Amino acid sequence: MRYISTRGKAPTLNFEAIVTSGLASDGGLYVPETIPELAEEKIQSWKGLSYQELAVEVMLPFVDECLDRDALTKLVNKSYSTFRAPDVAPLKKLSDNTYVLELFHGPTLAFKDFALQFLGNVLDYVLDKRQENVVIVGATSGDTGSAAIAGCQHCKHVQLFMLHPFGRVSNVQRHQMTTILSNNIHNISIDSHFDDCQDMVKSMFRNGDFIDYPLVAVNSINWTRIMAQIVYYFYAALQLGAPEKPVSFSVPTGNFGDIFAGYIAHRMGLPINKLIVATNSNDILHRFFSNNDYRKTGVDPTLSPSMDIQISSNFERLLFELYNRDGASIERLMDDFSTSGKLTASDEVMTKAQQLFDSAKADDNTIRSVIRSTYDDNNYITDPHTATGIHAARECHKDNTPVIVLSTAHPAKFPDVAQEVLNITPPLPEHLNDLLDRDEHYDQLPNNLEKVKSYITEKLQ
Ligand SMILES: *Cc1c(COP(=O)(O)O)cnc(C)c1O
Repeated sequence: MRYISTRGKAPTLNFEAIVTSGLASDGGLYVPETIPELAEEKIQSWKGLSYQELAVEVMLPFVDECLDRDALTKLVNKSYSTFRAPDVAPLKKLSDNTYVLELFHGPTLAFKDFALQFLGNVLDYVLDKRQENVVIVGATSGDTGSAAIAGCQHCKHVQLFMLHPFGRVSNVQRHQMTTILSNNIHNISIDSHFDDCQDMVKSMFRNGDFIDYPLVAVNSINWTRIMAQIVYYFYAALQLGAPEKPVSFSVPTGNFGDIFAGYIAHRMGLPINKLIVATNSNDILHRFFSNNDYRKTGVDPTLSPSMDIQISSNFERLLFELYNRDGASIERLMDDFSTSGKLTASDEVMTKAQQLFDSAKADDNTIRSVIRSTYDDNNYITDPHTATGIHAARECHKDNTPVIVLSTAHPAKFPDVAQEVLNITPPLPEHLNDLLDRDEHYDQLPNNLEKVKSYITEKLQ
C-alpha cells in the first residue's frame, strides 16, 4: 500500500515513511492510495476472532509493504497486552437496541490508547530497523498527551516532548503524564492555554531544522492512529450480526479521527447504516452535517474537554473522499477556509455526506442529564464524552438497527461531573490507585517559542 496526500501534490510514500512523518509537504494529510474492499465472505470468516487476531487481518493490507504478518502480529500482541479487559474492547448492552463499546481499558483510560500503544511499538520497530532516532513534539489538552507518553515511554529511538497548558488539564490527566519517569519523556507545562501550545508545535513543524532529528507527529494527522481504530468497528459489528446485519455507530467527536476510522471500515465493506457525529457545544461538525455550515468560531470550555475543538483536523480526509479524491478541489477549499474561516460544500457533496452521516450536539446541561438518566435507567456511570454519544444516539437513531455508542473515556478520568450529578466518585482502576500520590516531573516554561525550542535542543544534547 502506498499513501497519497489529500492535496495531491506531495510525494507518494510507503507506510514506513508515513509512520515517521507529520503533515504532507503540500499541507495535506496522508491517506491510503486505495481503500481495500473486502468480500462479504471474507468479513464473515472473521467472526469469533480475538481482538488481536482481527487487528492483524484488518490492518495487514495497509502495511503489507513494510510489515509481514509475523511482524504485525507481534506488534499487535504487544500493544494490546497492556489492556486490562481480556477482550480488549468489551461491548455492553445498555438498553434494547443500544450498546456501549468500552474503549477505556487501556493504560490511560481513554480510547487513544488503542492507537498510541500501537504507534509507539511500530515507531520503535521501524526506527530500530533503520537505526534512526526521532523527536516527537506534541501539544495536549489531556488525553493525547497521556496516551502518547504511555505509548512511547519504552521507545529506544524516540525522545518525546509534550506541551500542556499549565493548570488547565485535569488532575488525573496531569499525573498520568508527569509521573512517568522514563528518560525519553519530557513534560513541559506552558503558562498559557491549549491553543498557544498547539501554535508553538505547529510552528516547530513548519521550521523543524532547529534540531538534527526528524520531527514526528502523534496527533491524529498520523494515519497509523486512524488505521488502528478501524479494528474496533469490525470487532463490535461482528458481534451484533455483521456482515449479514447492519449496525450504526454514535461517536463522540473532536478532530474527526475516531469517526473517520468508522468511515474507512464502511468503505472496506462493513455494513454501517449511520455514522452519528456527536459533538459538545463546540459544534462545527454538527453545523456542517445538519446545515452545511462549517465555520470557525471560538472554543468554549465544556465538561467534555477532549472534544473542545475549533476546527477538526481529520475532516479534510473525509472531504477528500466526498470530492472523489480530487486534491485540487481540496486545496482550493482549504485555502478558502484558511482565509475566510468558512467552508461551504457543494449540494451534491452534502447529499452524499448526509446519506451516511447524521449528527447531534449536547451542551453541558444535556451532558449532565444524560449522565443522570443513564445511571437511573441503566445503572451505568458514563463519562461526559461518552454522554454526548449516548445523547446523539437517542436523537438520531430512528430505525431498528442496533446502535453502538463508542465509550471514549473511563468515568474516573473525569470524576468531577459524576460527583456533581450523581454524588458518586467513580474509583480509578487498581493500577492507578495511587496515581495522585506519585511524584510529578515537569518543567514550567513561558509562552515563548524560542524558550521552548532551546529547552528542547538542550535536552537533546
Ligand atoms: C480525543 C477524544 C475524543 C475525540 O476524538 P477525535 O478522534 O478527536 O474525534 C473524544 N473523547 C475522548 C475521551 C477523547 O480523548
